[in-house]
Parts: sequence; structure tokens; C-alpha cells
Amino acid sequence: MHTRRIAVIGGGIIGASVAAQLTANNDSHSVVLFEKESEPGTHQTGHNSGVVHAGLYYPPGSLKARLTRRGVELLEAYATSRDIRYDACGKLVVAHTEGQLAQLDIILRKAQANGVPDVAIIGEDAMRQIEPHCVGTAAIHSPHTAIVDYPGVTRALLDDVRQAGGEVRLGTTVSRISRRGTEQIVESSTGDEAFDYVIACNGLQSDRLAKRSGAGKYPAIVPFSGDYYKLAPEKAALVNGLLYPVPDPDYPFLGVHLTRTVDGDVTVGPNAFLSFAREQYSRLGFNLPDALQIASSSAFWRFARHNLGEALDQLRTANKRSFLSGAQDFIPGLVSADLSPGPRGIRAQAMNADGSLEDDFVIQRFDNAVFVRNAPSPAATSAMAIAEHIIEEILADDRLTKPGRNT
Ligand SMILES: Cc1cc2nc3c(=O)[nH]c(=O)nc-3n(C[C@H](O)[C@H](O)[C@H](O)COP(=O)(O)OP(=O)(O)OC[C@H]3O[C@@H](n4cnc5c(N)ncnc54)[C@H](O)[C@@H]3O)c2cc1C
Repeated sequence: MHTRRIAVIGGGIIGASVAAQLTANNDSHSVVLFEKESEPGTHQTGHNSGVVHAGLYYPPGSLKARLTRRGVELLEAYATSRDIRYDACGKLVVAHTEGQLAQLDIILRKAQANGVPDVAIIGEDAMRQIEPHCVGTAAIHSPHTAIVDYPGVTRALLDDVRQAGGEVRLGTTVSRISRRGTEQIVESSTGDEAFDYVIACNGLQSDRLAKRSGAGKYPAIVPFSGDYYKLAPEKAALVNGLLYPVPDPDYPFLGVHLTRTVDGDVTVGPNAFLSFAREQYSRLGFNLPDALQIASSSAFWRFARHNLGEALDQLRTANKRSFLSGAQDFIPGLVSADLSPGPRGIRAQAMNADGSLEDDFVIQRFDNAVFVRNAPSPAATSAMAIAEHIIEEILADDRLTKPGRNT
């Protein structure tokens, strides 16, 4: 039987999941994963909240809803089997006003339709049993929402790839995928190489590679940074799990939340702000080509026209006072000295030609290349299910999976 040569581009959690599933129990593929950095998981996978989302918010039937539930199942089983830190610490989505109660009902109905287990609306007293220091009028309680070490999961998956005979090429940038007959040519910093299939999971750079490879210009990536602060250890002890505000239904991000991490910290954040650099994490990060790409995008200006008010609101979230005020909504006794600057993450959020932000995951097939074009939160949670979806649904006719295989 012909050995199929498959290239995976991107060593974040999605690329690692795809490569691991392709190599597991399968000797009819040869798999090479290309990652431009010298370490895997250094971008979104290594700069996020570390939450294993349960599937509360996503429209029933969407890819996000479907792949999040399956993703949780696969991720929990994998982390447990590999002794990777995973803690089902639970989550509250806390309402502070009467007006937010209707919003809790909507979230509850979506969560139940999505099959989130044991989710319920609880009152103040029950809330206090779970989070004695948190204030609010009512909350959604999702007891199985968890936290995990995503970079640890990614490293373990890549160890699996190597052990199964796959190759992980760090420090190798792919510039383009071209075609020669039925072959896909991966053009990289180490030369050109022919494959039968290519699966591109390259996050913040996904639109650029797709466009250079002949796929459409849209959806295009608009980077949104998210800053975090950290609670001082004695104040972190006041938070048992995850405390989220009721999200604005018209806005794609979840709002400043208090998140326990597997390292024992509690982070406050992230806010969401247009970033003028895709992959720089200093607070003054600026990259000229990244900034010019935003400034010259007609879709971006359409977006800006419709979201000016929201953007000005977000400007106000850039200072420490607004993080403190977000944290005080949950734990009123906190003071400025309890917060110290934490990390920054940058989200790859896809935008359509009309300036709308793409809400669902977008995965496009173009010939024998697959491009993951929108995989924002909760795509770390869903990563293993996204990999399964690509292999078993998008490439189903090509039978890249063995019948009865169970990864
Ligand atoms: C602030 C923030 C908070 C978040 N919180 C959560 C959360 O709590 N839970 C959750 O589930 N999700 C969360 N997310 C989303 C989650 O982190 C991402 O959806 C997920 O990590 C996407 O994985 P990825 O593999 O697609 O991307 P990445 O981790 O960004 O990996 C892409 C990789 O491709 C490589 N690459 C790019 N271009 C090339 C090229 N040309 N050649 C070779 N390699 C290339 C990059 O170097 C990178 O390593 C959050 C994201 C952010 C930014």
C-alpha cells in the first residue's frame, strides 16, 4: 500500500492533535509537522486562560458547540492518561443585576441544548457555598468546567508523534503550499518537499499562508490582544475556581474573569484590544507589516465603523483600574496592591469581507490542503475534536483513518 505523505503546519495544540491522531496506530502515513518557533505551543496555546470550556455559550449545532463537548471528552481522557495537570474546579457565570438574569436563562438553555452536564442556575446562598467570597445575585454553575496545562498537553502529543515515527521539525517556517500535479509542495525555510496532503493549523498566520497558497483572502485574521493581571497569593486563596461575568451577547469575547490556573495562580483578565503585532507579547508590541495590513484592510474599516462605541469602551479597559474594578465585581475587598501585571495573549480572530467577526470555527479544504482559518477560544478545549473532524469528516473520502480506529 502507498504510504501517504502528510504535512501538518503549526505546532500549537491543534497541529499537535492532528499529527498525533494521524500517527496513532497508523503505519500507512508518514507525517511531518513544521513549526517555525524553536519550541512548540509558544503562541496562543501558551498564552491563554488555560480553561477547559464546557460549552455554555455556543449556538447549538455550531461547530463550536459540537467540537467543544467532544473535545472535553478527549482532552480529559488524554490528560488523565498522561498525568497532565487537569482540575475540574468548576465555574460560575455571575449576574450582578436583575437585567442580567434573562441572559443567564439564555445561556442555560444553550448549555443544556449543547449537552453540558449538571449545569444549573443557582441563587446567592448556593453561590456562597461554592465561592464564599464572591458577590452576585445569581449565577450559572458549571461544576465540570476545568483547567489544564495546555502547553503540557501539546508537548505530550508531539512526544507521541515522534514515538509513533512522525517527524517534528522545529524552527522551520512554511512560506507557501503550491501544487505539482496531484502533489502538494510545502515550500519552507529548509527547501521544497512533496506531500499528498497538507493540513495547516497555523493560528495567527493562517490567513497569510492560505492566501499565498491560492486559497481565498477571507476570512482574514485580526489580532486582538488580551492582558492579564495576577492576584497576590493571599488573595488568590479567596477564589476556588472560575468566576466569569455575564457576557455581552454582541461581543465575541467573554469579559474580564478570575481564573484559577494549574500553577495555583489566579489571573484577572483578559481584556480585548486590537493588536498592532500578531506575535509580540510586550505591552508596546508593534510590528509594521502587521499594523499596515490592518490599516489597509477595507473589511477592518467596515468593522471599525460599526464598532466605534465598543472600541472606545475597550480603550477604557486598558488600565489597571479597570482590571481592579472587574475583579471587585466578584470580590469587593480587593485593592490595587493585590494585582500585579501578568502575561499577555494575542487571539487570532477571523474577520469576513463584510467586516463581521466570524463566530464559528472555519476549516476550509482547498484541493488536498486543509486550512484551519478560524480557531479562537474554545479551540484549545476543542483541539482534539477539531483534529478528529478534519481527519474523519473533511478528509473522510480519502480514508486517512483506519476503520475502527479509536484515538
Ligand atoms: C488570551 C487568550 C485566552 C484564551 N483562553 C482560552 C481558554 O481558556 N480555553 C480555550 O479553550 N481556548 C482559549 N483561547 C484560545 C486558544 O488558545 C486557541 O484557540 C488555540 O490555542 C489555537 O491553537 P492553534 O494550534 O490553532 O494556534 P497556536 O497555538 O497559535 O499555534 C499555531 C502555531 O503555528 C505556528 N506557525 C504559524 N505560521 C507558521 C508557518 N508559516 N510555518 C510554520 N509554523 C507556523 C506558530 O508558530 C504556532 O506555534 C485563548 C486564546 C487567547 C489568546
